[in-house]
Amino acid sequence: MKKYFIHTFGCQSNKSDSERIAGDYEARGYQPAKSWEDTDEVVVNTCAIRKSAEDRARAFVLKVVKHYKDKKLPKPKIIFTGCMLHHGKNKIMDMVVDIDEILPVNEVGFNQSAVRRDKKHAWIPISAGCNSFCTYCIVPYSRGREQSRSMEEIIKEVKDLVEKGYSEITLLGQNVNSWGLEKLGIGLRKMLMSQDEFTREMIPDNQSQYLKPKGTPPFVKLLREISKFPEIKIIRFLSSNPWDFHDELINEVVNNKKIDRYVHLPVQSGSNTVLERMNRGYTTQDYEKVANKLMKGDPNIVLGTDIIVGFPGETNEEFEETVEFAKRMNWQVGFVAMYSPRPGTAAFKLYKEEIPYKIRKNRWEILDKIINKDNLKTRPKVV
Ligand code: SAM
Ligand code: SF4
Repeated sequence: MKKYFIHTFGCQSNKSDSERIAGDYEARGYQPAKSWEDTDEVVVNTCAIRKSAEDRARAFVLKVVKHYKDKKLPKPKIIFTGCMLHHGKNKIMDMVVDIDEILPVNEVGFNQSAVRRDKKHAWIPISAGCNSFCTYCIVPYSRGREQSRSMEEIIKEVKDLVEKGYSEITLLGQNVNSWGLEKLGIGLRKMLMSQDEFTREMIPDNQSQYLKPKGTPPFVKLLREISKFPEIKIIRFLSSNPWDFHDELINEVVNNKKIDRYVHLPVQSGSNTVLERMNRGYTTQDYEKVANKLMKGDPNIVLGTDIIVGFPGETNEEFEETVEFAKRMNWQVGFVAMYSPRPGTAAFKLYKEEIPYKIRKNRWEILDKIINKDNLKTRPKVV
């Protein structure tokens, strides 16, 4: 029986995609290899969020090739997939010469059944792609336009999981709480994928991506449907954005105790001027309103966040605003990242005022310490 091995870089979405790639292999009669050192095929599921993630994927391929060469064994077939495909097939083949095949991310498919190692908790992708065009981010280019899976498909997957004994699920999407909104066809803004000339005015306005839906937002309906399964005890979702976190969703999180009390709500910066340059479409005041409603609604709710330091042109004052905001928000956890310029993004084209590495590193250390160490003393416990 032929063997496959999948090496996954990056976020939970990639891990979830890898479970479906494994499902496809096993449906074709392959068995999982214990290690990349002894396999017939290696899938490299890549991340492109930061340059360092791309470098690690390339280094991994070189390591695989060297290992088989040193052992005088035939090289396994190397298949590249994931967010690095934003470079385009030809460029990728030039960048990483040992690749044999490209697997386009959109061919991974929601409906391929997943091979899950965990028997209690399951990741469920509910949407793919992103329409938000935050200026620093490669995802809208690597993953394409936002596409929600249908309610029927998701519920069918939950039902299958329940029958297999699963009791915890995490719903995944780049804008998980925007689920279903693109299907309503409201307020979808213009897209600009292949513009050579780029100006600030051409960046889509994030706030108007979707207008506020009339009635109950689709994501709330989905949470309610999933909550009806008595066997499902814990529901989590990743990553939510502040702009589609409407009051009805806040109330649902507060009152539906199947929903985990930890909510991940990336803010990206605590400075309004930086948020504006990032095209995040909200202010720190908007963010704080959502956060306060959640935490006042149920004092057991705790928040976590993602923050980028050293965004082009970030002044000392702007960084200080983020520091003050972090002290005030007292997040449970903060994934702090140093800005990494991503060719093809609006920030790469528009904002040339790069912050030197030493300053970015210093800001990273300061903020990481405040959020992930100092604030610990005063932070509420997750229940
Ligand atoms: N969709 C989610 C959101 O809007 O927050 C997160 C998506 S992204 C896969 C995960 C995190 O990577 C982001 O929250 C951001 O903090 C970080 N990130 C994205 N682009 C980056 C860049 N160019 N440099 C540094 N960090 C970046
Ligand atoms: Fe990237 Fe922004 Fe989309 Fe998140 S919402 S994936 S940060 S463009």
